[in-house]
Amino acid sequence: MLNSTGTIQSIEIRYLEAKLDKPFGWSQRWTTSRSIIILKLTTSENYVGWGETYGSYNTCLEMKSLAELVVGHDSDNINKINNKIFDQTFQSHAFAGATSSFLSALDIALYDIRGKFLNEPISTLLGGSLRRNIPVYATGLYYLEGFPIKPHLDEALGYVEKGFKGMKMKIGGLPIIDDAKRVNQTREAIGPNIKLMIDANEAYDKRTALEMSELVSEDKITWFEEPCPSRDFHSNRYVTENSKIPISGGESLHTSLEFSRVISENVFDIIQPDICSVGGVSEMRKVGNMANSFGVKINPHFWGTGISFAAVLHCMSVQPILNNSQINSPYENQSVLEFDQTPHPIRDELTDRFILKNSSVEVPQKPGLGIEINEEVLDKYIKGEIINV
Ligand SMILES: [Mg+2]
Repeated sequence: MLNSTGTIQSIEIRYLEAKLDKPFGWSQRWTTSRSIIILKLTTSENYVGWGETYGSYNTCLEMKSLAELVVGHDSDNINKINNKIFDQTFQSHAFAGATSSFLSALDIALYDIRGKFLNEPISTLLGGSLRRNIPVYATGLYYLEGFPIKPHLDEALGYVEKGFKGMKMKIGGLPIIDDAKRVNQTREAIGPNIKLMIDANEAYDKRTALEMSELVSEDKITWFEEPCPSRDFHSNRYVTENSKIPISGGESLHTSLEFSRVISENVFDIIQPDICSVGGVSEMRKVGNMANSFGVKINPHFWGTGISFAAVLHCMSVQPILNNSQINSPYENQSVLEFDQTPHPIRDELTDRFILKNSSVEVPQKPGLGIEINEEVLDKYIKGEIINV
């Protein structure tokens, strides 16, 4: 048996994009496509690891110079490689841009390789899983053209039928009175026993956010996500301190350094790091530990493919419950994970689909991420050149 995964021999970065049949929207914009950046890392011992992140083709070009920093380095030592990137980009907090995107994808790929080498799933590498199934909720209920309510309510009922015990809907794209009405109608349709969350995607100023919170106060809302711009910590904290509904946010923040302030200053009741932006498995674990130490809930964001979904499942399998108790109770003391149900052709074709059972998804048990990549999908959806380092 070899005693090393070898040096990093090549890093391929691809920007993939798929067109959608119908646009859907949220408070900030409408989309007619889904995209993702996929990173494939190959070592001198022929281990292959996969990672992913968000951005454009231009992000891929920026990632190229970062990939050049680590090619040739020993792939066994994930900490050393991460440290090298932090070292080279620290001044002026450069890692809050393409660096954290690159770091996220690279770190996931390195963990994938390490697990394959040791023949263990990533959760074992992280010290061993506390649970094999992670509670998830459905993300969907975006706006459709013309804002019709009937398909929205049908979609909500569809999630109940599939077995989801929670779901999240968009607000912030209409005047608050109209959005509040849609929330009322959704609650009425799904009944009192399904968790319902609302997500404004940074739509409001602090007073409007509180007005909205008040308008839906009878609808048993489990959390109100991103009421204000995500880096406007003062407004978010004001809403957190004054809203009866718990407030969440943080999906676009980078690294544990950005989360340290959000957590220590009580900006949100619930933080929502995304493994594709925060810095991969390594930074997700740091943020998870910090959240636990400060008594803040962590319910991660997810918007990618099976690569980042598998990575975050592993991280959540080692996340302790928030306070010691006889039982693990999702939404109360146990983290719940976002399970995107919106159209995403790349996600649907790139890996096997994750099966929903009891409103949970099983943590992959095969080595590394524990998923297979269908590489034909990379060719099918690539836009621009492969960035090859
Ligand atoms: Mg969100």
